[in-house]
Amino acid sequence: MESNKAEKKERKEYSSRIRRLRRLILTTVAASCLIPTCICVILAVRYDRLNDRYKQASADLEWYRSRYGSEMEILGAEEEGEPQSPATETKSSPVSTSDASADEEMDVDYATIDVSGAQNPEDIEGTRYVYLTFDDGPSSSTDEILDILEEYDVKATFFVCGKPSAKYKDVYARIVDDGHTLGMHSYSHKYSDIYSSLDSFKDDLDKLRIFLYETTGVWARYYRFPGGSSNGVSQVDMKELIDHLNSAEITYYDWNVSAGDDRAGATKESIYSNIVTNVPKFKHCIVLMHDAADKQSTVDALPQIIEAIQAMDDTVIVPITDNTLPVQHINNN
Ligand SMILES: [Zn+2]
Repeated sequence: MESNKAEKKERKEYSSRIRRLRRLILTTVAASCLIPTCICVILAVRYDRLNDRYKQASADLEWYRSRYGSEMEILGAEEEGEPQSPATETKSSPVSTSDASADEEMDVDYATIDVSGAQNPEDIEGTRYVYLTFDDGPSSSTDEILDILEEYDVKATFFVCGKPSAKYKDVYARIVDDGHTLGMHSYSHKYSDIYSSLDSFKDDLDKLRIFLYETTGVWARYYRFPGGSSNGVSQVDMKELIDHLNSAEITYYDWNVSAGDDRAGATKESIYSNIVTNVPKFKHCIVLMHDAADKQSTVDALPQIIEAIQAMDDTVIVPITDNTLPVQHINNN
């Protein structure tokens, strides 16, 4: 009886040892599968993040190379040759209007710009491309403009300034998220600073470009000079500024149709009429409008302007892209 009990106890202990051993083996096998899997997942995530940072750093480096190319050559960096503006590489010569006149600082009269590049409507064949562009934003009107563009499913181009106020952060982002083109129009929009020297111009441009990159992730590559390339108020030869933009691979766009919304007494009707009567004169229309708190008439006229352009034969409204032929009042050729 006694020995029977002892035997039973021993058997019980033995089977419990076996169970423990089995558990240990199973745990070891599970761990040896799980741990490498976890390590792989962690490494994959880290690789992904590093890859993103690498791409971002490469884009930054590319820009610095084009901006400070000569200094980098002195430092022994790989020589890449003179950076070419995409404008000169991929496009035929820009649409050039003749010399435009402009008045004094802060009061450039856009409506006096001579649009002698106007074409005889009979000579215009094929699709007409219309680029709606808005300068000076963001403003308290931008959201309303974006709502209208959304309603008509139209993409436009915004040449913006640098406005670090928190209330505009989402507005910059919405311009990009809605699929519009984000262009640059100087950080400060102060003619007396931007056009006082080449260095001031460069500083302002860099400040805006970096600001927009940090705000939206977009490395902007289109520019509109405040007052246009024909502003007539620059202390620096505009060709020097244009050379600088070319070296930084930035294309600048003037306009051949103006809303005239910066003129005293501009009304919804005058804005509508300036655009709708002039668009048919060109096959390729870059339309200047303003996005500013005091330009409500532009916003009010916008729906009818879009409807009128959309009703024109073989005409499309598109945003500026790398393939857009620039309209330039002063070209660099
Ligand atoms: Zn402006």
